[in-house]
Amino acid sequence: MDDVIDLLAPGHGEAEEKLVRSRGLDRVVFEPSEAPSARELQRSLAARGPRLAEDLPGPLADRAVLAELGRRDPIGPGTIEKWIECPYRWFVDHELSPQRLEPEPEYLTAGSIVHDVLEHLYRDPPGDDGIPRPGDLDRWRERAAALLAAECERRGLVPGRPQTRILAARMRAQIDRLLDREARSETELRPALLEASFSEAEDSLQPPLDLGEVRIHGQIDRVDVTPDWRFGVVYDYKTGSGAWAAAKLGDEGKLQLQLYARALRDLWGIEPIGGLYYPLGRRDDPRPRGFVASGVEATEVLDLVRSDRLEHENVQYTLDAGVSRAREKAAAMRAGEIDRDPNGGRCPRWCRYQPICRLERSIGVEEAAGNGDAGNGEG
Ligand code: SF4
Repeated sequence: MDDVIDLLAPGHGEAEEKLVRSRGLDRVVFEPSEAPSARELQRSLAARGPRLAEDLPGPLADRAVLAELGRRDPIGPGTIEKWIECPYRWFVDHELSPQRLEPEPEYLTAGSIVHDVLEHLYRDPPGDDGIPRPGDLDRWRERAAALLAAECERRGLVPGRPQTRILAARMRAQIDRLLDREARSETELRPALLEASFSEAEDSLQPPLDLGEVRIHGQIDRVDVTPDWRFGVVYDYKTGSGAWAAAKLGDEGKLQLQLYARALRDLWGIEPIGGLYYPLGRRDDPRPRGFVASGVEATEVLDLVRSDRLEHENVQYTLDAGVSRAREKAAAMRAGEIDRDPNGGRCPRWCRYQPICRLERSIGVEEAAGNGDAGNGEG
């Protein structure tokens, strides 16, 4: 061996340097001049050749699918909001409908239970008034607790389990916070509609809301009206902490309040003087958020954030903007224009659909190859 090494270089170190070839993990093919076989040469040349454009997900093109989407009518405000959140995310969630392996998260179950309890409670109030008053607040609380226990049992939550107890305590706190706030309120507004539905269903209170190009269906959690039933405020309960200020509705792609307010006017003949999210899950600042018309006696006494009080024309503008955005997005949805287009240009942190939409977060949509402009573009 020494004699052979001496032929290569004067010392062992130099000979080793000449003999050893090291390549990083980035070198997946040989240089063409070093290719040890015809196959490796082919691979080497292919790696240097022109790239095939990646066939990224893009607008839907299949006629049958487009025809099916075109028939989507009426559409719910929540569906359009999901589309605005990100059309591709909507496509995965709403159309591909991946099934959960784990049970439904508890917060979803809790949300349904709280909605049901509040509906039953206000439909058959335990006091003389339609909302709790300081003198009968305890009766309201007791009735709410009884309804909550019954609803938990009906939903199969096992009593006594630690998780059930925690969940029930959380729901109870949410409901009690709402009752406490309402007992202190001096408003003349009273609940008149609960879970007010407008859809094609036989038992729906009203037909869908007709916006011309598209119809909207939905169910309004609650509508409080003035004693003469001329004016009303739409409420949407949020059992999480999410509730959006008037100024944020557009940026956040929220349409529910605006469309419900429009439905109140067009379908029930009640003039909307507000639309509010009730953030039942918030302890720090449980004030409802959204918009109300300023200068109206019925809303002046409501405990709200000042910036959510809008001039009459701004209320009108908010409603109109919501309606035209709903029309525009519903049309895009029915035309199958799915795209990786998160609202505001930023994917929500919690979205985990990158393996499906193939968006590399660190690169982003704009720098990646054009969406759907490669291959046949069919999604
Ligand atoms: S990662 Fe971004 S682009 Fe992909 S589905 Fe989610 S929100 Fe949309």
